[in-house]
Amino acid sequence: MIFPVSLFGSGFSGLGFAVMLVALGLAIFFHLLARHRKIDPGPVWASTLFITLSVMLPLLFGSYALQWAWQPWWHTGRHLLPELVGPGYNIIETLLALTLPMLPWLAGLLWRTLRGWPSQEAAREAGRWIVGAIAQDGARDSAGMPRLWVAWFSLLPILVMLGMADQLGANASPYPVAIWSTLGLVSIALIGIALSKPIPTKETAPPVSKPKPPANLPSWPEEMAHRGVALTLLGSCASKQGDPGPEPSESRKEGIPSKKPIDADSPDVLGASGISPVLSKAMRDLAAPYRQGATIPMRRLVIASDDSGQAENLVPVAVELHRRFGTITLVIVATDADGYAAKLARWMDGEGVKAITKQELSLPENVIICVVDAVLLSDRLLAELDRNGQIKRIGLLCWWDLHRFSGVVAANLWAIARRLKRLLDSSGRPDIRVLATIRDHANAGSQRSDFVSRLLPYEFPNETIVHLQRDCRQSLALYRVDSTTRWRNELHDRHIDRNLISSDVLTTTLASVDTGWPTHVDLPPGLQMREIANFGGVNLGKGAAGRQLVPSANAGARILMIDNDNASSVLEVSRQGGRNVPAVLPHHVALAGGPNPYANWLGEYAARKAGTDDDALVPPYRLICPGAQSGIIRRHLLRALHEREDTLSGLLRHFLWDESAVRETLEALLDKGMLHREQVRHVNEDGRLIVENSYQNRALPDTPGPLDTVGDSLVRLFDPEITEGDNVLGWLDSERLGILGYPGRIFLQGGVRYRIADWRSSGASPSALRCDREDRLVFTCRVRRPQLRNPDLRPGKGHDPILWEGKAEYVEFVTGYRYRVPSDDNEGWIAKNILYQGDPISARFNTDVLVMGFQGEISGQGLNSLTQALRHVLPVHAGIDEDAVEIVPIHDGLPMGNKGGTGVAIADLYPGGIGIIREIGKDTLFIKELFDWTARWLAACSCPEDGACPRCIDSFTAGAITTTSPNSRGEVLNLLARTIHRAGDLNG
Ligand SMILES: [Zn+2]
Repeated sequence: MIFPVSLFGSGFSGLGFAVMLVALGLAIFFHLLARHRKIDPGPVWASTLFITLSVMLPLLFGSYALQWAWQPWWHTGRHLLPELVGPGYNIIETLLALTLPMLPWLAGLLWRTLRGWPSQEAAREAGRWIVGAIAQDGARDSAGMPRLWVAWFSLLPILVMLGMADQLGANASPYPVAIWSTLGLVSIALIGIALSKPIPTKETAPPVSKPKPPANLPSWPEEMAHRGVALTLLGSCASKQGDPGPEPSESRKEGIPSKKPIDADSPDVLGASGISPVLSKAMRDLAAPYRQGATIPMRRLVIASDDSGQAENLVPVAVELHRRFGTITLVIVATDADGYAAKLARWMDGEGVKAITKQELSLPENVIICVVDAVLLSDRLLAELDRNGQIKRIGLLCWWDLHRFSGVVAANLWAIARRLKRLLDSSGRPDIRVLATIRDHANAGSQRSDFVSRLLPYEFPNETIVHLQRDCRQSLALYRVDSTTRWRNELHDRHIDRNLISSDVLTTTLASVDTGWPTHVDLPPGLQMREIANFGGVNLGKGAAGRQLVPSANAGARILMIDNDNASSVLEVSRQGGRNVPAVLPHHVALAGGPNPYANWLGEYAARKAGTDDDALVPPYRLICPGAQSGIIRRHLLRALHEREDTLSGLLRHFLWDESAVRETLEALLDKGMLHREQVRHVNEDGRLIVENSYQNRALPDTPGPLDTVGDSLVRLFDPEITEGDNVLGWLDSERLGILGYPGRIFLQGGVRYRIADWRSSGASPSALRCDREDRLVFTCRVRRPQLRNPDLRPGKGHDPILWEGKAEYVEFVTGYRYRVPSDDNEGWIAKNILYQGDPISARFNTDVLVMGFQGEISGQGLNSLTQALRHVLPVHAGIDEDAVEIVPIHDGLPMGNKGGTGVAIADLYPGGIGIIREIGKDTLFIKELFDWTARWLAACSCPEDGACPRCIDSFTAGAITTTSPNSRGEVLNLLARTIHRAGDLNG
């Protein structure tokens, strides 16, 4: 120690040295703070204080303990806390006494500042004992100084120090100076905490995209009529603002807000408003610290209308979790990962959302949210996740829009969800959070909870379910688009692409954009990426149409095409529209008809019910989660055993498949040399040695597993024009070649429209189908004659109609295809059948069937017409693809035991059957409702009863069924009236 004595001749000079050390500590702290702006200094100060006191307090109490043992000891100066200053002590002793507390203080400050930066949560947890109680949550009041009140506590040590100041220095009586400087450091740390403030999280950043409605918008319906778009008002519902609470019967205590009024429209997230506070709270709770042994699991199931704020709330939760734990949020969607990523990115300030692509198969660095579609997750990503420990990075798992996973897609997702959970259970974070969202549906029989609990391997207790109230938050007016002819002709004169103006959805959208109203459109299917871009570029004099299209929550008007997915939930899809622009009222929704006439009728029906409290006639809706078919078991076992080896008992524990099915599949795969087997020994819970076989698949299966296929025998679709890299467009089950691979079929892949080339010359079972690009806007369906052979039936549950369940051989002859294109004269569409030369394509396989038998004399015409009707009705209510089932008439031969023996069968169009039939057959009420709604629809049509029209059963798709008699609406009504004995109700 070489200090000039003149400086340190007294205790106060020693104090000067101490002040220098404090200044040095503060300088280092502020330097680091300036370099790393993103840290909350509060926890750093708190933990510094903690470290200082942890060192100093034991020394202090130790000294007092010594004094208690032998009182004079205190005055010897030789104990744990060197305390004495004054002339009797040399300068080194004095400095030591004064600076001793500063050593742990400086060390604590440095260590925490340096070490605390990378892991925010570590700093927070360290500081929790003091900062935890105060404004930890940055969302509350980050603009002010939420912790300033802590400064009051620093007064106490300062007062003590001032009171003792005269005891310092050369003239004073001895006083433990180390205590004095400790008090000083406590004051500095407390002031540090008081002046710190939480880092503003993304959600509190200033709104960047708050939509501004144009002032003085003209009346939308009038402006539309003025342009030649004829609309009919179907229904409207009035705003019920100020009553944003949930339904008491379905929301649990977590979801129910306190009685105090809530400002439902307070802008909460980056320009979003009108989000239910119940939803916000429930989702944000997911970011709360994980408590071990908590009774409510860190999961949420959100049941709500579309666009209720699910995306807006997910973003801040993901940001918060990333900030605290450095974890990312994995969002699993059915399709269109890019679209969802773009939707989420809208609510994120800056980058941080990314869709995982085929080219980049791992969780990207520097992201907060990853979006992946279920196919990519299953085929490639799962194996990658486990290989390099990436699975540990997942903090929140989101299953997004579960209603999109019904039918065969659900059967695959079932297995994928369990494969992911198996990996997470063994290598993932123990505190993983799970969020699932699903569209609300007014019908209580939708089996929604049952569906979710079957589909996902997670339980959602009542406390974790958020079920939002269904009323309209703002006024809504629903219209039907009756005619756009005049407007379409005008567009035609302006030389706009015929493909674009053939659709009522697109022409109505252009009219709405032309009015100046912020418009949202759900683009109709079948458009190529190039056509969508052209549509966005259409300029009617007020700039490109695409620039005026906005998300539905920001829109004043919305154009929605009715399809099988939304027909029974038109209100659920549209009622949150315009949420962010409350000044633009009401929110106008124009419904344009789609290809399914029943869906069109039902969509209109639902729209007419808007605003009425009539709950009696809610259309039924069933989400179907089928069981496992052997092809699906095989596919997912191969992948699961590649991701991680496992024993039979381990597999059965995670995959609740039938044991014999799993055993058989394993044996079959071993025989083919696709699996490796070795014995493993382990001790079980009872302490007994268990010897088991462990199975492993060393090669990743190279056959992909699209979610709409079930087997491993797949046919490749390819584009010969793609010469670089992979030219695969998709895959089909070889057994379903006639159903999805018929020559002439049009489909869309990667934003390009393709037509399947005629492959019949290359043999009955090609391994790859060439697909040519198609520029015309064409829709096709196969011309077919479906039959059932050798039915093996057993009586089912119902007796009215008589239900039979069982197996049968499904045989279908595809003789050509039917297509629909925009007409050259701009008058709408033309439809035609093209019949193949030579033999028809046949599909045949054994499958599940559900037969509905009718008593008494039934005309063949009535039976055929009923199958036409049910082809339209079933997919709308059962959440399955039109290609997933076929309705087959049975003209005789049912084992009814009395005369007749006729009926209609629902056949599962996946070879072997995937359990759709069993799910439908379980619900006899549902089947009766199908008949009931069929009758309601047909009774409402205005065409002659002995015939049919395009609005009922002479639709485009009905024209593809080869039958012997013309369709008759009246015959179906007769049949249904007799069968369900409710003729009186049917006309109501
Ligand atoms: Zn009709």
